[in-house]
Amino acid sequence: MKHVLSKISYGIYIVGSKMDRPVGCIANSVMQITSDPSTVAISINHNNYTNEIIKKTGQFSVSILSEKVDPSIIGTFGYQSSRKVDKYKNVETEELAGLPLLKNSCGGFVCRVVATTETSSHTIFIGEVIAQQDGNSEIPMTYRYYQEVLKGKSPQNAPTYVPEESTDQTQSKKSVWRCKVCGYTIEADTLPEDFVCPVCGQPVSAFVKIEV
Ligand code: FE
Repeated sequence: MKHVLSKISYGIYIVGSKMDRPVGCIANSVMQITSDPSTVAISINHNNYTNEIIKKTGQFSVSILSEKVDPSIIGTFGYQSSRKVDKYKNVETEELAGLPLLKNSCGGFVCRVVATTETSSHTIFIGEVIAQQDGNSEIPMTYRYYQEVLKGKSPQNAPTYVPEESTDQTQSKKSVWRCKVCGYTIEADTLPEDFVCPVCGQPVSAFVKIEV
């Protein structure tokens, strides 16, 4: 179903937190609520480890990703879990007020949680900005850019996730290949050896064929 809600604009962000080590995930739902004091709301899935750590520490950070961000960062932060992986291991990071922020982004900020609201699947954290980091002058990535230019998909934990409609097998004879790291899919009989995932940068060996 093509939903009218898909016309709402979003950005692409990394929401981070830190207890014994830094954790983080991709979020597209970040919005400013008030300007004085500067307050934002974010929406994070209950299943995300980052949600658990924000609740325990009462703090989160937001890095604003640019259109030129290395797509493998979206793959790492969007399609893996901080429960299992140190996502910041291969990313240039700096700390602000004790929380992790990307070093090379459009900028970022750190919030103290002042309220939370639970929905069936997501926690809405409302946070007051307590510190901010100036960023580069690149263009912040919108969710539309991510979908239309990078051909990215919503991970299952995203508020904007829509299950893919089942394909009519009588019409679709081509194979579908799925990136094991980020979930990106492409229709093709075969993938060339030098094919690289346009979302997360993984080589062709990261793709599995889905029978149709
Ligand atoms: Fe990928």
